[in-house]
Amino acid sequence: MTTDHPRSHRRSRRRLLRLMLVVGAVGVLVAAAVFAVPQLLPAGPRPLFQMPVGCGETWQIGTYPGHGEYDVDFFPLDGDPWGQPVLASYAGTVTVAGINGSLGGRTPDNPDGPRGRGGGYWVKIDHGGRWETQYLHLLEPPLVEVGQRVAQGEQLGRIGSTGNSGAPHLHYEQRRGWEKVETWFDGQPSGITHDDAEYTVRLTSNNCPA
Ligand SMILES: [Zn+2]
Repeated sequence: MTTDHPRSHRRSRRRLLRLMLVVGAVGVLVAAAVFAVPQLLPAGPRPLFQMPVGCGETWQIGTYPGHGEYDVDFFPLDGDPWGQPVLASYAGTVTVAGINGSLGGRTPDNPDGPRGRGGGYWVKIDHGGRWETQYLHLLEPPLVEVGQRVAQGEQLGRIGSTGNSGAPHLHYEQRRGWEKVETWFDGQPSGITHDDAEYTVRLTSNNCPA
């Protein structure tokens, strides 16, 4: 009788292993359905994005070779760029509020300090319908936190030069699903459509209290 025990143990171990494999496979399928399927659905209509800067202000927005297709840099035409408010382009939920890459050491008191890597202090907002916006190189830790609902025009942070940034400015992107798209403001395309050359346009913000 005792010789039967090892065999039945082996059988039950095999059964347990099979069960664990099935449970694991089902888990992977469920995870794929929950996370991947929403990404395959068509994007919703474009939100009525506004410029991420103060109501009525005119800013120079531009790009340069190698910057990234559709990526936009914001420079104010008036006043010191350091510390100017960065505003949500549209209502949504904060999905990132932290550090991308490394901060470096560029501050208002030391504007030529060591350059960091990546986006520095940054914020990403999910606007629903697979639309999102990103705000990079902020001066300080963002004023919002992950999971927080923000309104259009709500302040996210202040303009700085953290990360890989030469001078204080806001690096800004709009994304639809996985793809970056041309930035639109107040229902109009910005005109920053490629990064084959250095060029700028001037736009006035209509990110005004409702
Ligand atoms: Zn940039």
